[in-house]
Amino acid sequence: MSHRIVIVGGGAGGLELATRLGRTLGKKGKAQITLVDANLTHIWKPLLHEVAAGSLNSHEDELNYVAQAKWNHFEFQLGRLSGLDRAGKRIQLAATHDEEGRELLPARTLDYDTLVLAVGSTTNDFGTAGAAQHCIFLDTREQAERFHRQLLNHYLRAHANRQDDDQISVAIVGAGATGVELSAELHHAAHELAAYGLNSIQPQNMRITLIEAGPRVLPALPERISQPVHRTLEKLGVRVLIGAPVSEVSAEGLKTANGEFIPASLKVWAAGIRAPSLLKDLDGLESNRINQLVVRPTLQTTRDDSIFAFGDCAACPLGDGSERSVPPRAQAAHQQASLLAKGLVARLEGKALPAYRYTDYGSLISLSRFSAVGNLMGNLMGSVKLEGWLARMFYISLYRMHQMALYGVTRTALMMLGDRIGRSTEPRLKLH
Ligand SMILES: Cc1cc2nc3c(=O)[nH]c(=O)nc-3n(C[C@H](O)[C@H](O)[C@H](O)COP(=O)(O)OP(=O)(O)OC[C@H]3O[C@@H](n4cnc5c(N)ncnc54)[C@H](O)[C@@H]3O)c2cc1C
Repeated sequence: MSHRIVIVGGGAGGLELATRLGRTLGKKGKAQITLVDANLTHIWKPLLHEVAAGSLNSHEDELNYVAQAKWNHFEFQLGRLSGLDRAGKRIQLAATHDEEGRELLPARTLDYDTLVLAVGSTTNDFGTAGAAQHCIFLDTREQAERFHRQLLNHYLRAHANRQDDDQISVAIVGAGATGVELSAELHHAAHELAAYGLNSIQPQNMRITLIEAGPRVLPALPERISQPVHRTLEKLGVRVLIGAPVSEVSAEGLKTANGEFIPASLKVWAAGIRAPSLLKDLDGLESNRINQLVVRPTLQTTRDDSIFAFGDCAACPLGDGSERSVPPRAQAAHQQASLLAKGLVARLEGKALPAYRYTDYGSLISLSRFSAVGNLMGNLMGSVKLEGWLARMFYISLYRMHQMALYGVTRTALMMLGDRIGRSTEPRLKLH
């Protein structure tokens, strides 16, 4: 029987890895590649704030795992990882149920020779009182769509009641990339909704408050990027609160540790991440305080050479001599998938595994349709600040690179063409 490689998690990293290994090892029959995911379709997570604001229809940008598997010589198994038996080299999958709660697939096990865990991360509310009950997290397509429906419902209610000068208040916790991008995207949505006739809430009456515990917006990015972003957000009418940790959330709004109460009908929590709690004690594998599996530069877990982990669910040394880990970002998941795609082929041939070293190509922050700001990193030029239309083009190219890894150049080009045609025939904002 050929070597069985099981990849759990078909996200930004896992799906690229399964696709690449399918095209190499799977196609030649040198290994049997199986991808497991808890969902039937994939959507690239960095698009979720656009789904929430309604500027992207998630169904148009989702990928079906069954079809992707067929086209790229791997097998897909629908299921949620629920346990691991390292001695028996087998994973456990929980039973899957349909919308009516009927069992669709029973709980079952899957044997592996090599296991790769790429189950991503979820939002970390740091145990803040009321956050889980009253805030929406943007971890899944369903959550992003729920936010969009709630937003739209406010507009539809105001429109039906013909209430002039109605208001809507949105609070976003966390001024990292997600919080900043969502604020800008919502500002854009407010204008679009009014332009489509849902104008009982005028654009200036969408009150957006962005709340950050740290001393500046985009704390993970260079300070010279934070300042123009902060200014732009304020110009758009977003109220930006910095140095204001949220201590409590209720149905009416949020309270900060400084004692301020921020009324909000819609609340999004976009601060911090943690890996799924399942990884905390997964048959003795080493994990850190945010449940990430600790891995070596080869991406092998510290206590089991046959088990690899990468992307957001792994704590991989940054490799700069510090204690820090590789940041939880799509570009890291993409780089690690590329490295593992080569590494696992080498391992099958009895060769040494390559070591991963994170390369920061910079960060771009989208400020909705027309602009972006960020920095690009290069060996010769150091860090270059980019703004405006050019930055926006580079920002879009990140997603195109992910599509290229999944579909190849020709299909990606056709999809870009399809997007262009679609844009001229459909509303610019999702109105349902
Ligand atoms: C709103 C938002 C905006 C972002 N914007 C950016 C950005 O602009 N740039 C950037 O670099 N990064 C961005 N990120 C971060 C980026 O999305 C992640 O770093 C990246 O998706 C991590 O990839 P991954 O493969 O590790 O995990 P994911 O892409 O999260 O994929 C994990 C997969 O595992 C599956 N899964 C989870 N648990 C199980 C289980 N128990 N069993 C089976 N399957 C399971 C999930 O269904 C999912 O398909 C953003 C994140 C969010 C939420």
